Amino acid sequence: MSELPIREELRGIEPYGAPQLDVPVCLNVNENPFPPSEALVADAAAAVADAVRGLNRYPDREAAGLRKALATYLERESGVTLRPEQVWAANGSNEIMLQIFQAFGGPGRSALSFAPTYSMYPEYARDTSTAWITAPRRDDFTIDADAAVAAVTKHAPSVVLIASPNNPTGTAVPLELVRRLHAATTGMVVVDEAYAEFRRAGTPSALSVLREHPRLIVTRTMSKAFAFAGARVGYAAASEQVIDALRVVRLPYHLSAVTQAVAGAALSHADELQARVNDLRVGRDELAAWLRSIGLEVADSDANFVLFGRFPDRHAVWQGLLDRGVLICDTGPDGWLRVSVGTPAEMAAFRSALTEVLGTTRSKGVTP
Ligand SMILES: *Cc1c(COP(=O)(O)O)cnc(C)c1O
Repeated sequence: MSELPIREELRGIEPYGAPQLDVPVCLNVNENPFPPSEALVADAAAAVADAVRGLNRYPDREAAGLRKALATYLERESGVTLRPEQVWAANGSNEIMLQIFQAFGGPGRSALSFAPTYSMYPEYARDTSTAWITAPRRDDFTIDADAAVAAVTKHAPSVVLIASPNNPTGTAVPLELVRRLHAATTGMVVVDEAYAEFRRAGTPSALSVLREHPRLIVTRTMSKAFAFAGARVGYAAASEQVIDALRVVRLPYHLSAVTQAVAGAALSHADELQARVNDLRVGRDELAAWLRSIGLEVADSDANFVLFGRFPDRHAVWQGLLDRGVLICDTGPDGWLRVSVGTPAEMAAFRSALTEVLGTTRSKGVTP
């Protein structure tokens, strides 16, 4: 196999992905734990039946109906009015991000982000032969605006990428940072708002400053708040010119008619989903408070997960939880673990498993 003429930078690389294990309590990939309602299931099934009747034809290449529905949703969620031409949709925000790198990155160009952050970003860079640069966050995972501007000035990246709320830390950025970075670069500024719907009261969305920033792109997804990870629908909001650039690099007919149909059905149920999101935000705050109450450090989170620690041997804690049927994620800076907010029953299982694990590992001297 060593004879394959694979690109040098891909040789020996394992495909990325969190473990997909069959355990009772899965809290490792920030999914929404509540499945779609039966009313949504029925609407989606009817929409799929309709779509299937037309599957002899290629789908709407421009996904016009879906982009209009997404623009309507964003207006309700963030109060920002967008024309459908300012919205773009693809198979997950992962594909949106790859299209951004294809359009604005590439050989001889670089992308910069602030570590620790989402582990997929360097892969989009690698796959598009874009150089990957990181500048550090502060110890509390916020971004020092002066240092960020200095890094952008020094490296002149063609893409600056900020996850807000950030994965795996849950940290959101102030709009002032977005303004300053946009002013400091001639490149694109991408704010990945995969978790935006979970943000705390008072935390802004970068959508609200889109109009004044022609090189700003805000990406969102239906995978998290919308409880639709399996459907693979992500989207971006930006100026029409930016969306036109993404349309140049998309594969023809990239978004299947079935995907467009189920996404449209889910968007028509946005209000009922919002109630679940509110429950998860409350669950997030309770989880953070409980972890602090047992003496652990917790990063402030605007997302549907929390990063907690620190453990001299985090893998032992992760394994101890898994042995008790609870899968979380050993990602992020050394010593920390990330857990997604689940149902009340899943949270109870997590709390009792962690209490047990810390009891045993403390007696072995593995945790503080
Ligand atoms: C989960 C996540 C996404 C969503 O990816 P999809 O492809 O839309 O499922 C995007 N960005 C970050 C930082 C994430 O954690």
